[in-house]
Amino acid sequence: MTRTLLRNARIFDGLRDGLSEPGALLIGDDRILAVGAEADTAAADIAIDLEGRTVMPGLIDAHFHAYASRADLVALEKLPPTYVAQTGRVIMEDALRRGFTTIRDVGGADYGMWRALQEGVFEGPRLFYCGRAFSQSGGHGDIRAPHEDESVCGCAGHGLLAERVDGVDAIRRAAREALRKGAHHLKIFVSGGIASPSDPIWMMQFAEDEIVAVVDEAARRRAYVAAHAYTPETITRAVRLGVRTIEHGNLIDRATAALVVKAGAYVVPTLATYEAFRRSGLEDGAPKHLLDKLNDVYGQGIEAVRTCREAGVKLGFGTDLLGPMHKHQRDEFRLRAQVETPFEVLNSATAVNAEIVGMTGQLGTIAAGAYADMLVIDGNPLADLSLLYEDSVAIHSIWKAGRRVSTSVSRD
Ligand SMILES: [Zn+2]
Repeated sequence: MTRTLLRNARIFDGLRDGLSEPGALLIGDDRILAVGAEADTAAADIAIDLEGRTVMPGLIDAHFHAYASRADLVALEKLPPTYVAQTGRVIMEDALRRGFTTIRDVGGADYGMWRALQEGVFEGPRLFYCGRAFSQSGGHGDIRAPHEDESVCGCAGHGLLAERVDGVDAIRRAAREALRKGAHHLKIFVSGGIASPSDPIWMMQFAEDEIVAVVDEAARRRAYVAAHAYTPETITRAVRLGVRTIEHGNLIDRATAALVVKAGAYVVPTLATYEAFRRSGLEDGAPKHLLDKLNDVYGQGIEAVRTCREAGVKLGFGTDLLGPMHKHQRDEFRLRAQVETPFEVLNSATAVNAEIVGMTGQLGTIAAGAYADMLVIDGNPLADLSLLYEDSVAIHSIWKAGRRVSTSVSRD
């Protein structure tokens, strides 16, 4: 085992607000072996002086689409799969270069990408995937125009990011297939969305028995269900039926936030994507209908974060970016900082997201036994969160599984 000693590091552990006094961190292979006094006296093969820089857990993005290389989802479906695999690789490599050492993909990424990462075919973030998200016909995952009967890609109801399933038997079969293919979680759309042409935001998608069925399939496989939901009534119904993470949640109100707390569920806001669409959506390839629907949720996103914080909801950290807008991934920090403390935002992007992906103590923290996925920062992000904003160059180095990632220079 190669042992690397990082000296003179001030540690943010992802869990507590504040930095440690300058001390040491011992890494062996892909794990953190010891932190603090115990590490200080250890024998190591390599020693690096971090000169008082901050060491914090690698970032986790809990709402990501590695295969979404286009903002126009219809155009995306028409791309050859081999092309999609290539762009997916680049999107993942870039996420790692921005400091995201783990991503949870909630529609698209699959066993093939996971396996390529596992085998070291390329260097990207750790991947937790669900395969295709499930949508009812006419739901958020159904991107056919109103005059179209056939599926957009000619592939029998399923596309790249989502598949259409209707009825309890169909959703059970789809869930079992996804879990067979190694899905870490299942994703359903239970309200209307922005990027789809025919469903209003307020629409309640899937019947109750369909949601119950998919939650049951996930639970028996010790997985869980993530649900795209905007409105109070769709969020309420989802958490009542056992959905574990609410994606977006922009229109949540106080009463609904209290129900989410009671259910022990999470909300994963994705402010960066609305901001990016508003700023450059059309030039970045988004269709017009998408921008028309944007106003239904845009301004409320930040209010939802405030409402959830006040109610004590466990907030994850996501981005949901598409196409060239992926480069704004770290803009989520700036947006969240409008209503949260730096600690709250960083805790979401590390320890809470680790909890969401079921890796408490292994990811999203700096502690003995955890994977050595870390960022070294020039300065203290708990005092100045702008060190992580998209234009910042304060990330000194990025470590994944105990190895310094080949470059910290982003292509953005
Ligand atoms: Zn999404």
